[in-house]
Amino acid sequence: MNSDLLSGHMITGDGPVRINILVEGGRISQVSGDEIEPGPETARYEGIILQSLADMHTHMGDNLARGDLPPNLSDVVLPGGMKHEFLERTPRSQLTRSMRSSLDELGPGVSFTLDYRESGSKGLEVLNEALSFSDPMVFPLTRVVPGDDPKDLLERSAGFGIPSLSGDLDHLREITGKAGKIFSIHASETYREDAEALISLQPDQVVHMISGTISDWRMLAELKIPVAVCPRSNAAYGMRVPLKEMVAEGLILNLGTDNAISSRQDMFREMEHAWYLLRTSGITGENAARKIFEMASGWNLKETSLGRMITEYGIDISGEPPGIGQLANLSVIRYPASEKWLDAPFSHIVRFASRSDVLYTGRPRYMA
Ligand SMILES: [Zn+2]
Repeated sequence: MNSDLLSGHMITGDGPVRINILVEGGRISQVSGDEIEPGPETARYEGIILQSLADMHTHMGDNLARGDLPPNLSDVVLPGGMKHEFLERTPRSQLTRSMRSSLDELGPGVSFTLDYRESGSKGLEVLNEALSFSDPMVFPLTRVVPGDDPKDLLERSAGFGIPSLSGDLDHLREITGKAGKIFSIHASETYREDAEALISLQPDQVVHMISGTISDWRMLAELKIPVAVCPRSNAAYGMRVPLKEMVAEGLILNLGTDNAISSRQDMFREMEHAWYLLRTSGITGENAARKIFEMASGWNLKETSLGRMITEYGIDISGEPPGIGQLANLSVIRYPASEKWLDAPFSHIVRFASRSDVLYTGRPRYMA
């Protein structure tokens, strides 16, 4: 059985902890503050250990549609836009290659992603063709296109990732709940949508909400409905995520890289950009970095229905050292040159680390 020995400082909710972790066959087999004797075949990795990152909102199919990006969201990713033209007209083999390119970009340091898969049944098939065992775990969230049976789509996916608040969503919500799967929806991106209608659907995650009001955010916060925000994707169309204000209302926030056509699928870049958003609105230093890390690691999901479902798949989002037998959704990042990083560990990860610093990414398994 292949084994990996991870040694170094683990980033936990209580700060960095010195630790040694043995991973065998993708699961944790030993955890100790003392040295662990490696076997002759054991690969060793030393550095900063963290629970791998969680990309909470992607559309991975449109990587090969990249080019000069029109300035308006509506010309690119809304129905009829450049991205949908690409998805409809591109041969199947190219679509698979496009998905593969996104997975390669996303992979280092990331344990799982929620992919809001377009094109119904065909979109799920393309995703399955592109997946390999070296990828993050992908939770495909599907949507219904004419000719597809919603129940069939639900059986073949992790749930629904609905594009907007229109159509007969009550029925989809009902069958998703009965199946115990994820119901997620985009809302209030370029303009405000009806928050009461949104909440009546009891979504497990809402995407964007940047055009919501303070009272919309408060309602979502009270109901512990998490919101995935995508600061670089919004910035690509001239929009700004009011991150400080959303944090101030107690929203449970997570980060996503969104459409491949809009920005590189790179959670390290996403964290850095989000940190600058907080910094330029007055939240500074390590305090801002920790808030961003909590959004990027899945830690914020602990008390949500979505967090419970993700945990049921064996992914640990506790922010604590792992237990024996758990899936190894851990990454190791190269130690920085300066030991001063220990004074501000979250800043180091969020502001200064990049995917090229990732030495090891544990691969629990993937969902297909
Ligand atoms: Zn989206």
